Amino acid sequence: MIPYNEKNESIMGSKQSVVKMPAQVSVLLPLPLKEAFDYIWNERLSPGTLVKVPFGTRKLYGVVWEGKGTYPSKKCKPLLEVFESVRLPEVSLKFIEWVSNYTMTHPGQILKMVLPLPEAFDTKRRAPLNSLNFTPKGILQKPQLSLDQWATAEDIKRSLESETFHTFLLEGVTGSGKTEVYFDAIDHVLSKGEQVLVMLPEIALTAQWLQRFEARFGFHPATWHSDMKKSEKKQILRAILQGQVPVMVGTRSALFLPFSNLKLLIVDEEHDGSYKQEEGVIYNARDMAIVRARLSKATCVLASATPSLETEENTRIGKYRQLHLMDRYGGAHMPEVQLIDLRKYPRAKQTWLSQPLRKALETTMSRGEQAMLFLNRRGYAPLVICQGCGDRLMCPHCSLPLVYHKFHKQLLCHHCGTTGFLPPSCPKCHAEESYCAHGPGIERVYEEVTAFLPEVRCALLSSDHMSDSQAIFEQIKAIQDHKVDILIGTQIMAKGHHFPLLTLVGIVDGDATLSGSDLRASEKAFQLLHQVSGRSGREKRKGQVFIQTHLPEHPVMRALLDQDRREFFSLESEQRLIHGFPPHGRLAALIISGKNREEVEKFARRLARTFPLTQKADLLGPAPAPIPLLRGQYRWRLLLRTTKEVAPQPLLKKWLSQTPPPRFLKLQIDIDPYSFY
Ligand SMILES: [Zn+2]
Ligand SMILES: [Zn+2]
Repeated sequence: MIPYNEKNESIMGSKQSVVKMPAQVSVLLPLPLKEAFDYIWNERLSPGTLVKVPFGTRKLYGVVWEGKGTYPSKKCKPLLEVFESVRLPEVSLKFIEWVSNYTMTHPGQILKMVLPLPEAFDTKRRAPLNSLNFTPKGILQKPQLSLDQWATAEDIKRSLESETFHTFLLEGVTGSGKTEVYFDAIDHVLSKGEQVLVMLPEIALTAQWLQRFEARFGFHPATWHSDMKKSEKKQILRAILQGQVPVMVGTRSALFLPFSNLKLLIVDEEHDGSYKQEEGVIYNARDMAIVRARLSKATCVLASATPSLETEENTRIGKYRQLHLMDRYGGAHMPEVQLIDLRKYPRAKQTWLSQPLRKALETTMSRGEQAMLFLNRRGYAPLVICQGCGDRLMCPHCSLPLVYHKFHKQLLCHHCGTTGFLPPSCPKCHAEESYCAHGPGIERVYEEVTAFLPEVRCALLSSDHMSDSQAIFEQIKAIQDHKVDILIGTQIMAKGHHFPLLTLVGIVDGDATLSGSDLRASEKAFQLLHQVSGRSGREKRKGQVFIQTHLPEHPVMRALLDQDRREFFSLESEQRLIHGFPPHGRLAALIISGKNREEVEKFARRLARTFPLTQKADLLGPAPAPIPLLRGQYRWRLLLRTTKEVAPQPLLKKWLSQTPPPRFLKLQIDIDPYSFY
């Protein structure tokens, strides 16, 4: 431990002169520092106690990390304040240590996620506490479960009764009633006075989910996501530590909150990419949820209609137990999927909807039903090109084209947020008004639909057109209330929502997700397109799905057409096995970035040269990253591949300690990488 050894000015002097046996405490601070710091106090303190300490010129909150420090106490400063009533549960401390070791980040960075607003507990600064009521109000009518659902729920409940750690994969097609099954398990946990955490991939999803929850349980659960006000978060944090939160629903960051009695964790849409945090501490909340469950002998349920290959593999080898719901709930049928071969049905110039899709839209409208057009491209056009010289408008800080947003009359970089206007003339060839939009974005599809169906009420759904979760909630309500006929949206629309009148889904560009340097490209494309398709025909009315594609023979398209995931996934799994990629091997990515291109390359190459040769692992790269310039930083990547039995962390630790990066470069470690940009 490092002592805090600046000028040792005691604040305990006169006021607390009764101190006889100062005890030493080591304190973890929410900072990216290697170790905890030693301080002294007039008595021993239990691990997890919240304290305030002097640190340089600052005063910081921290938690007691180990009861007793190891540094000569003469050199340590006293604590400023101790909040006796606030203590992180032991399981949170264990979790901090585990996640820190696994992700190779400092424990202080994890502490910041476990206790994001420690000032919430400062009795001097604390605002009056509004009463929060998260408790169930009496017994409500339980819904009738199908035999299938009932049997599945019983399995989970048996695990909860056993109070040992189990992980389940709850698998079932979209609309098969997975939510009702885990609601039944939640009911069981609530009756025992224990805690439940439900994770959802996006806040956009929570609105409808909360409606369902409230209808079933008669109370509003606590929620946690990035869009919440600080004051709300503080209240929730206090309620958690006081044991007043029986059910928490949130996005990935909710996993780190200091629950003391967590017995059931549900990861809904477990395959979803948004569980992976890509900045700061890089972690996958789905995987960490399983660890969290193990630490508190809890049950973890991973729910999905299209489980990830990793989860499938863990089920196959018996690590997770599989629960399978066979049919759509309430007699609804799976939608009928049709591929529109764009080679046979070419689209007119500057239009994006083929004749068969246009016709289907008209028919759906004439029946008074709703349709959804899906295109995972925000804005009006992904490219702006000069007609005179072919110049593309690029972001000055990233090696990426600027996206044209017509409705906001702007050019926008989706990675760094740089904005600009369409230049009146080309700076390269000086042609006047020469820039033209290329390719479709959702705004352009909107323009096309409103031109050919002028009577129809259209709505755009993407993060650019809705400022916050309230706006999303209102838009979803408008769709439910049939104030919208056709919705055109990005993947914000793909998941979870349930619109009874929606019977047609049109996928504008089925091929968009298939390319790229991503080893999971096919898997992700299948999951996304299947999920979008699942929005169609969720009640009595039969649903239809049209997928526009140039590649109708592609295995992803075949699997969507036949609604057969098994064969596609086993082919995909074989391919990964050949290359030793997950789920059959393990990966860790190293991303080196900095302002000086030569230095970044030089260090990447040096790192590769010093890689210790071993039978257990090999190195792919170094190579410039697919996005070689991002937010003004040049980037190179290396990929470490190990066999499944070999953890990459010890290897990385040894290697990187021998070849540390120079101060002016950043080295990010991404264990189990999900993105490869
Ligand atoms: Zn030009
Ligand atoms: Zn940019």
